[in-house]
Amino acid sequence: MYYEITEKLLDFIRKSPVSFQAAEEMKKRFEENGYQYLSEKEHWNLEKGGKYVVMRNHSALIAFSVPEKDTMRFHIMASHSDSPFFKIKENPEIRVENTYTKLNVEGYGGMLMAPWFDRPLSVAGRVILRNDGKLEERLVNVDRDLVMIPSLAIHMNREANKGLSYNPQKDLLPLLGCGSEKKALMDIIAEELNVEREDILTHDLFLYNRMPGTIWGADREFVSSARLDDLQCAFASMEGMLRGLKQDSIAVHCVLDNEEVGSATKQGAASTFLKDTLRRINDGLGRSYEEYLMTLADSFMISADNAHALHPNYADKADPVNHPVINGGIVIKYNANQKYCTDAVSAAMLRGICERAGVNCQIFVNRSDIPGGSTLGNISNTQVPMNTVDIGLPQLAMHSPYETAGVKDTWSLIKAAEEFFS
Ligand code: ZN
Repeated sequence: MYYEITEKLLDFIRKSPVSFQAAEEMKKRFEENGYQYLSEKEHWNLEKGGKYVVMRNHSALIAFSVPEKDTMRFHIMASHSDSPFFKIKENPEIRVENTYTKLNVEGYGGMLMAPWFDRPLSVAGRVILRNDGKLEERLVNVDRDLVMIPSLAIHMNREANKGLSYNPQKDLLPLLGCGSEKKALMDIIAEELNVEREDILTHDLFLYNRMPGTIWGADREFVSSARLDDLQCAFASMEGMLRGLKQDSIAVHCVLDNEEVGSATKQGAASTFLKDTLRRINDGLGRSYEEYLMTLADSFMISADNAHALHPNYADKADPVNHPVINGGIVIKYNANQKYCTDAVSAAMLRGICERAGVNCQIFVNRSDIPGGSTLGNISNTQVPMNTVDIGLPQLAMHSPYETAGVKDTWSLIKAAEEFFS
């Protein structure tokens, strides 16, 4: 079952090169399972026993189900749809010596840059078209090896193995074409969408890694792929939500965008997307504002974003005691400075969920001299305060375009999510 579920995860990631496609894939999956799509622009008629899915910006998604019985509780699992990428700038083509066409890009999020070199990449995202005087949004994924960022040969920089620093404006511009004719990216996008190039008005397009995910290791215990942070958690949350019985709480699967750039957008964890949705659920069920506040006080959120596993070559970078390992189970993350929401209460609740689900959990705390990263739990709590635990699945090479995790851990989180949503 580990391999079957890992293959399913890799298939989901393959279809979700950037956040727009990830949200679209999840929407499809929920609709196939009887969830009704709600537009934020329209009135919601919610019913007991109903299952719904809503999107914002086509890049963040919330699926929720209302149980038959009266319940004053939200059970929320939150994750994120974005990863560090390179975004294609406007007017991206740059000509070199009237021979090469390369693309002008800028970084999105804090990425490891070195692994972007010398591997096939492509372009995905969305474009806005002019269609009969109206604006139309279309998702696009150029599903072939399209561009590459070639390294400089060792002969031209003998210092290359002694710690390189990268300048994204100089070193990271991907090569698109070669020849006297200037290749235009928008021609390729127009062809892909079967539209006229002139009808493409604007775009949100990103580079993504084309290297397919793989299961590997002496006992096939590892999985490597693009975007494990955080699609591994988003996928496990979705699978757990679909499997859970959802009888005793309003189950909420929430995948927000822009975590990698601080969450402060209309579709990020700092936005009102989750709050607005919870308020509309509350109001739609005929409840008062006081009842909403009572509901929040009795609710629980699992903020699920991948965690650092002990690195085989850098064990000294981990806390001497609390260093999670690959395939060791769900990671509960603690931080004294409250980058993570976990406290004694929420950790105890999460441990209870893991125990009932029959899965292992382990602890992550940063070394006291390494500040570590941030995530969406505490940011989301400023909009929607409730008991929250920060967790993740253990992985290596976080924010590389090709990350490594364990085949067993996805299953553990699916089982815990199923228990949580039951
Ligand atoms: Zn993350």
